[in-house]
Amino acid sequence: MKAFEATQYYFDKAADILDFSPEIRQLLITPRREVRVEIPVEMDNGRLETLIGFRVQHNNYRGPMKGGLRYHHEVDLDEVRSLASLMTWKTAVVNLPYGGAKGGIKVSAQDLSRREKERITRKFVDQIHDIIGPRTDIPAPDMGTNADTMAWIRNQWEKYNGFDPAVITGKPVDQYGAEGREEATGRGVGILTFKMLQRLGRRPAETTVAIQGFGNVGSHAGKLLHESEFKIVAISDISGGYYDEQGIDIPLALRHTLRNGSLEGFEGAKKISNEALLALDVNVLIPAALGGVIHAENAGEIRADIIIEAANGPVHPGADEMLQSRGTLILPDILANAGGVTVSYFEWVQNLQHYKWGLNRVRQELDSVLSRGFEDVWQTSTEKGVSLRTAAFMISIQRVYRAAELAGF
Ligand code: NAD
Repeated sequence: MKAFEATQYYFDKAADILDFSPEIRQLLITPRREVRVEIPVEMDNGRLETLIGFRVQHNNYRGPMKGGLRYHHEVDLDEVRSLASLMTWKTAVVNLPYGGAKGGIKVSAQDLSRREKERITRKFVDQIHDIIGPRTDIPAPDMGTNADTMAWIRNQWEKYNGFDPAVITGKPVDQYGAEGREEATGRGVGILTFKMLQRLGRRPAETTVAIQGFGNVGSHAGKLLHESEFKIVAISDISGGYYDEQGIDIPLALRHTLRNGSLEGFEGAKKISNEALLALDVNVLIPAALGGVIHAENAGEIRADIIIEAANGPVHPGADEMLQSRGTLILPDILANAGGVTVSYFEWVQNLQHYKWGLNRVRQELDSVLSRGFEDVWQTSTEKGVSLRTAAFMISIQRVYRAAELAGF
């Protein structure tokens, strides 16, 4: 099943319960615009390369479209389309006044020099500057892009349109970026894990956690959960998994990654494989690395009874069915990792107001947006007797449908 089909599958499940007609489904699922551009660029060695870039604008009934920009060798239209629609449902579930979009360039980001990356980025903006903007479509970082990339995009876009830093979020903090943007997704994962456990009447100190992926999202989630006294018994990254049943010293692991760039060589725990980490006997499993890591073949081995989808699409629909029927609670990605887009929204709001918030305000507002989103989903799930994922999709598509209806379609 391709990425777009997986999103469609979850969408249809919710639309079936809402009894939405085929025409309405078609309206809500079809992207408004799909742009594919050629990016001819001279590489450092003088060679001319023609890269392909995409921007898919899925839906703007609830507000300007919002979504990241990914530089990765596997980027294709199907993936970008799927991620664009996920953004529509993600912004709707936490009730941000946005629609959804996504973009990407098919290129291996780690093989590019900084100058090459800058040239590619500026050329891409030359091609899409007229379809993005603070009131139409506001990009943000994703895999292979970062705050500097966002600063180049802003600068190039402003050459056509004049000063307006609200055109893009995830900018450097000293260049109209928001305090707390970098930690936001992981912090949000931590906040939501805490809410979920509270709802279930479980205590952090008696809850064991395994986190797959100790990058931006996984490490910030780990930090907050550790500070909240959860027992994190396993973490992992591309170098493998690290396990200590007594609980890993997370500050030590964070210092190690800061110094070494990864967990490679971390001696504070026993080495295990990434596959073994997924199958650990823990209360909470947080996949925070890649999509599709839990699938029909390994779902039977998962022993955690709570999964928090920090990554996008870590649980394949085949595994989702199996796990839900076994009673595993899955907090879906569109809610679990919405902390990033929420603080992006705060950045946009600050830019529009030409006013800067402090870190405490950002954290407080993040907590309040995510708590509301969580309560909405939990309540719908309980009232309708559906999974948290179906509840999240039901809320989102109803909100988008209402906006579409009021807009006269
Ligand atoms: P990142 O690149 O900072 O970290 C990814 C981590 O996963 C790294 O530690 C890497 O070593 C590890 N990893 C890579 N391959 C692995 C493998 N095969 N097994 C185990 N670990 C592996 O990326 P990130 O920003 O932390 O994003 C992680 C996930 O969260 C992605 O799916 C991303 O789409 C999603 N996400 C991120 C944000 C955000 O704001 N950063 C927002 C929403 C969703």
